[in-house]
Amino acid sequence: MSSTSLADFILSNIEPILEKWELFASDIFARHDLDTVEACDHARGVLIEIAADIGRPQTALQQAEKSKGHAPNTHEMKSEAAQHGADRFFSGFSVTEEVSEFRALRASVLRLWSVSNPELPPGAMDEVIRFNEAIDQALAESVARYSAEKEQRTHVLDMLLSFSPDLNYVLALDGTLIYANKALSDLYGTTPEKIIGKHFSSLSSIDPVELKQHVAQVIESKAAFRGEVPCADSTVKHLKFEHLIVPVIDAQGQVEALVGTARNMTERDQLEDDLKREKMIADTIIESAPGPFFMIDEQFNLVRGNSDLKRQTGYSVEQLKGSSMLATFHEDDRALAAVKFLTAFATGYARLEVRVLTCDHGVRCYLKTARRFLIAGVPYLAGFCIDVTDRKLSEDALEREKQFSDALIESTPGAFYVIDAEGNFVRWNNYLSQLTGLTNTELRSRPLLLSIHEDDRPRAAAIMKEALESGFAKAELRVLTQEHGARLFSMTARSFTVGPCTYLVGIGTDTTEWLAKIKNLEHEAWTDPLTQVASRSHFMEMARLEFARCRRYGHALSLWMLDVDHFKDVNDTYGHPAGDLALQSLVKTNQQGLRDWDILGRLGGEEFSVLLPETQTDQALLVAERVRQAVASARVALSPGMSVGLTVSIGIATARQEDVDIESLLSRADQALFEAKRTGRDKVCVAEQLASDVSSKS
Ligand code: GH3
Ligand code: MG
Ligand code: MG
Repeated sequence: MSSTSLADFILSNIEPILEKWELFASDIFARHDLDTVEACDHARGVLIEIAADIGRPQTALQQAEKSKGHAPNTHEMKSEAAQHGADRFFSGFSVTEEVSEFRALRASVLRLWSVSNPELPPGAMDEVIRFNEAIDQALAESVARYSAEKEQRTHVLDMLLSFSPDLNYVLALDGTLIYANKALSDLYGTTPEKIIGKHFSSLSSIDPVELKQHVAQVIESKAAFRGEVPCADSTVKHLKFEHLIVPVIDAQGQVEALVGTARNMTERDQLEDDLKREKMIADTIIESAPGPFFMIDEQFNLVRGNSDLKRQTGYSVEQLKGSSMLATFHEDDRALAAVKFLTAFATGYARLEVRVLTCDHGVRCYLKTARRFLIAGVPYLAGFCIDVTDRKLSEDALEREKQFSDALIESTPGAFYVIDAEGNFVRWNNYLSQLTGLTNTELRSRPLLLSIHEDDRPRAAAIMKEALESGFAKAELRVLTQEHGARLFSMTARSFTVGPCTYLVGIGTDTTEWLAKIKNLEHEAWTDPLTQVASRSHFMEMARLEFARCRRYGHALSLWMLDVDHFKDVNDTYGHPAGDLALQSLVKTNQQGLRDWDILGRLGGEEFSVLLPETQTDQALLVAERVRQAVASARVALSPGMSVGLTVSIGIATARQEDVDIESLLSRADQALFEAKRTGRDKVCVAEQLASDVSSKS
């Protein structure tokens, strides 16, 4: 058997050594899911380093230092052993496990070496000692690096926990605080050191009874507890914590400690409450809007809507979500609506009127407002819609109505006006403004009375009052016109009420010329054009009135019928114009014979009638006789040197009780006339006294 140095032995037997070492350490590797190839990498390097170290000459001092793990000239933290330590730390090895690994390595080397060298070669003891020193050095380096890594991690974790806004702590099973972070100690206005070591029940802000229950529950169930823990401290009572307590379980499956985290949820809960409230308010506003509500994004896609939107379109908000709002509009309105939406996105606000295809009421007209707002920097438009279909229809109807009434007002034959209860102009037609010479601006709210002749104003005011009280009034008033001074107008006023206001509407007609015309017409109608005595109709009207008056007062009334005798002959002999002349002359003679109050009328042709008020038969007979004689004795001059004589027959009737009307009186007078004619002409006969009272020719 050859004798080799230990260093050479290690270098030439690395693989068998590692195999043996693996056997020793396999259960540790398995615990940490480490595969053996990986695990062996550092061990191989460590063996090579150790072998090199044994082979190097060393002083006694160096050896002594090394045995304490203080080897000089080596880069401890970068050596293979040190890297091994770091590696084991990150793989979750405990220090004990790490030490066991080195022990196993030491055992594997020495055992295999003693097997191949049953009799130790000279100086072998020295090599063994140096090997042990090197292993110790490697172990020291490994553990040092392990500890350094652990310390750094602890420090980082500690920093992490210190700055955490959450309360972090570790509790021993008896309830003593093993660890507390800054947030927790801050809660008590102290440092972590001051509370570590104290029992949790002495920490006033957490409800000790409740926490005790939770701790017991976690220890017993070995499962984490999560829940809300309210604060017991009255000064922080409003605080609410979400609590997580996790059991720390050791290698034997026993709970060895409890790790707790408590997060202050007060603010979050408050925010959530605020959010809920805001959402409620927003929802209420949106739902109680007088019409559909919409919220769209930059693609005009619906993001939110209310139930009215559903009622309007027939689609639920969910169905509409994500599709363009424009699709719900009338095809012809979409382009304009898109422009308006873009305007709203650009300027912040827009109003648009669009026709919407509703599900059950066909096309309706909506007025929409769109206002831009940002959520997390993203712009949206929100707006309400008001159904203006009815309003538009009303507006159209109103417009039509206005055009109609304008046409009516302008076609009014005269001055049209509407005045308020104070008598100020509210509406008028062009005729009125031209008449008064006032512009529309001047007329607006101007008192109508100012356009009435000063003397007529009290009467005009009375008429307006009467119309307001009784509904209607009319009067003849002088209106001040621009071009023709005061003109007589027939004014009407009818009251009407709109809402709380009462108005008078009326028409004023210029009656100045009309009255003159009427007078002319009346005169023409009343007067016989040839003889200028009352016409038949006028005579009859007067006769009727007189008959009624006499009847009422029981006064006497007589009436004649007078007819020219053989007048045809006059015409025939001298011509019709001569006949006219003769008739005019006859009338004059008649009038001279009559009294002032007697009324002469031409009933037609050469037939006349005379009304004699307050006159009994004998008086009437007297007057008639006087007239008859005057006619008979006069000669009517027709032309120079030519004249004609006329005679007349007269029938008289005096009103009696049984005369029902003027016609019966006339009829009796006519009979008397007939009798006069029949019995010779140029005579006067009295009705019903024909036998006795006949006045005969002289
Ligand atoms: P008597 O009455 O005596 O029986 O005979 P008379 O000739 O008067 O008969 P009658 O009453 O039939 O004729 C009336 C005539 O009077 C007929 C008509 O030509 C004439 N006459 C009627 N009106 C006018 C008139 O306005 N001017 C003229 N020139 N003649 C008239
Ligand atoms: Mg006659
Ligand atoms: Mg006659």
